[in-house]
Amino acid sequence: MRTQLFINGEWVEGPKTTPVYDPSDLSVIAEVSLSGEKENEAALAAADAASTSWAATAPRVRAEILRKAFELMSTEADYLAELVSKENGKALPDAKGEVLYAAEFFRWFSEEAVRTPGDFRKSPSGDKRILVTHQPIGTSLLITPWNFPAAMATRKIGPAIAAGCTMILKPATETPLTALAIAEIMQRAGLPKGVLNVILPESTGPAITKMLHDPRLRNLSFTGSTEVGRVLLREASDRVIRCSMELGGNAPFVILDDANIDEAIKGLMLAKMRNGGAACTAANRIYVQKDVAAEFTKKFTAAMSALVMGRGRDASTQLGASVSIKERNKIAELVDQSVASGGKLLTGGVIPDVAGAFYPATVIEVAADNPILKHEVFGPIAPIVTFTTDEEAITLANDTEYGLISYIYSEDLKRALRMAEAIESGMVAINRGVISDPAAPFGGFKQSGLGREGGFDGIHEFLETKYIGVDI
Ligand code: NAP
Repeated sequence: MRTQLFINGEWVEGPKTTPVYDPSDLSVIAEVSLSGEKENEAALAAADAASTSWAATAPRVRAEILRKAFELMSTEADYLAELVSKENGKALPDAKGEVLYAAEFFRWFSEEAVRTPGDFRKSPSGDKRILVTHQPIGTSLLITPWNFPAAMATRKIGPAIAAGCTMILKPATETPLTALAIAEIMQRAGLPKGVLNVILPESTGPAITKMLHDPRLRNLSFTGSTEVGRVLLREASDRVIRCSMELGGNAPFVILDDANIDEAIKGLMLAKMRNGGAACTAANRIYVQKDVAAEFTKKFTAAMSALVMGRGRDASTQLGASVSIKERNKIAELVDQSVASGGKLLTGGVIPDVAGAFYPATVIEVAADNPILKHEVFGPIAPIVTFTTDEEAITLANDTEYGLISYIYSEDLKRALRMAEAIESGMVAINRGVISDPAAPFGGFKQSGLGREGGFDGIHEFLETKYIGVDI
């Protein structure tokens, strides 16, 4: 297990360490180095020094490194999944799914590295040739959250390498071990020194602010809460740093009266409970049409009640722990507030009397103005609201500052597509509980973010467009 910082191709001790906990029993699983000013500066200097030569590397060379990293990560998926589960608390099948998904970003971007498009054409007036090319933007700062410690890192490292950028990765303080393990994989895959550096600042805010004000840094790719995203956008504005922001979500899950209810419940169990509900894509507002509400609610509550909660690494576990007691308590507070505002608990809703950051699968019937619907609940909580018309469902679905993803279940594709076009979100899943795919553009409308990761768009978050006009 790597516990040191990764700077300029070396494993480096920081001035202090921080404990990483197993949230399922609160034991310390590792002491990880924190970076002080000296290490943060060394990381930026290393990325800057490697920038020019790395940008000049042949795309095929970058592609081969990514392909090798994909192979290593896939082969070592079991070990990595255990590490993810240990530091994050999620159930092992979720952790394994995440690691394989994370590895796929390396495969996808190894294929993208050699396909950057360009353009050469005659200008409309015929006076010149228009040549459009793309160049790596330069040294990038990647900041990732704790909920997908592997996938959120590779979704940024993959396109940065493919584009020819150097980078500094700052993982969440709760879950640095996975990021360090990925750095080691990149080292073994042959990534030159300085291209990827991993830091864990003693004091996150001031260290990141300092970097955002340093002329060597050109790009910020952030995944995390909308609240922190807003702060970083303000900080980045002083030097007009290019920003890509993958922020919070509060996804509506709409079940229309012609939906296959059993399929909808299967999809919802994934959309709601993958990662124990700690996902920006988690279905947090469940809207069900009146005529099918009773059947749906009964079957869904039964499915939620049947989930086995326990230590992520135990074979029987379907619902692991939250990442920390602090996060678990946030969930409990939202449920208590919802019930105090008229929500009716159908299952769950009580903190279990065990060590560890556990909260049970919880279903609450609520009115459309219940306060829980206004918050991004990062846990296994499913609030259900009944609606009457399709128009009402669209209004309810759009009644949020977020716009990351939405889910629609209906056997009538025309009806579902009409609704998909009317809902303000960057992604819409029709009759599916999961649509995340490295080959598709991931990102949100409104306050869920700026830019897209994955798909054909992902590499462009790390490229500048250059137009060269040639006289003829
Ligand atoms: P968070 O509190 O915003 O933290 C995310 C990252 O930002 C962490 O590495 C954190 O570092 C860092 N950070 C915190 N304050 C900072 C500051 N002032 N300056 C610079 N960096 C700072 O989010 P989280 O609780 O880890 O993750 C949950 C959130 O991420 C949810 O809102 C979720 O929806 C969102 N998310 C979005 C996507 C997406 O693709 N749209 C995917 C996954 C998660 P420390 O750990 O050191 O505080």
